[in-house]
Amino acid sequence: FLQGKTALVTGSTSGIGLAYAKALAAEGAAVMINGFGEAAAIETERAGLEALSGAKAAYSAADMTKPDQIAAMVAECAATLGGPDIVINNAGIQYVAPIDEFPLEKWDAILAINLSSAFHVMRAAVPGMKAKGWGRIINTASAHSLVASPNKGAYVAAKHGLNGLTKTVALEVAEHGITANCISPGYVWTPLVENQIPDTMKARGMTREQVMEDVLLAAQPTKEFVTAEQVAALALFLCGDAAKAITGANLSMDGGWTAA
Ligand code: NAD
Repeated sequence: FLQGKTALVTGSTSGIGLAYAKALAAEGAAVMINGFGEAAAIETERAGLEALSGAKAAYSAADMTKPDQIAAMVAECAATLGGPDIVINNAGIQYVAPIDEFPLEKWDAILAINLSSAFHVMRAAVPGMKAKGWGRIINTASAHSLVASPNKGAYVAAKHGLNGLTKTVALEVAEHGITANCISPGYVWTPLVENQIPDTMKARGMTREQVMEDVLLAAQPTKEFVTAEQVAALALFLCGDAAKAITGANLSMDGGWTAA
């Protein structure tokens, strides 16, 4: 149902972002992916998206900490695939440390990638959406846009901020056929989660098994990880006509985490 539409997904060389890209391509969208990784692996994913969609797919190496590169990515998307009709701000990193030991450069990087990059992408993409009278903005927030956990100050601040920014943009574009929403997953098994296990072990003095059970899945009443494919299915729903009245919402998919 997305034939003729163009989607731009930041942080989509891995994890949830790649699942979004595949789900959008499977519905016929031309997709621009973005993120870091090995060139050959990224090219395989890009070509796979074209095979899936029957439309063009492109890759941008833009660094989400760099506003000029973000603006250039949106312009390149417009030039090669068409102005983005669907934007998914998904790039994100995590760092786990108590506030008094939190490295300054990690604070700056998390705020830049997890929050400010969404501002820069939306700022560049909204005019094209307004001109078409149609657009879908989906921002990957997190259960941490609603609740906190210790040792995640930068991440929790950025995700709460992303929720506020998304609501604001939703109000601004409400009469232009554009919706803006957050999807807030609980723990999804991706490299982002895998990579924080050693630091959490150190910060809390726990074994790997204790972190998995007492920190990660302890938060989720279902005791199951959310899957990237489930998150992508919700994004697809938000792109459809049935979801045109859903805007400014923060949709949880967290196994009951934030109900507790
Ligand atoms: P991931 O590490 O698998 O993917 C992150 C993506 O962002 C990768 O493609 C990476 O290359 C890209 N990226 C990182 N820094 C970048 C930069 N400076 N410029 C451009 N791209 C950059 O992680 P994921 O778990 O799939 O996370 C995706 C999003 O989902 C993040 O915003 C994360 O906060 C959010 N999220 C994840 C979980 C989870 O449990 N995995 C839960 C809630 C929210």
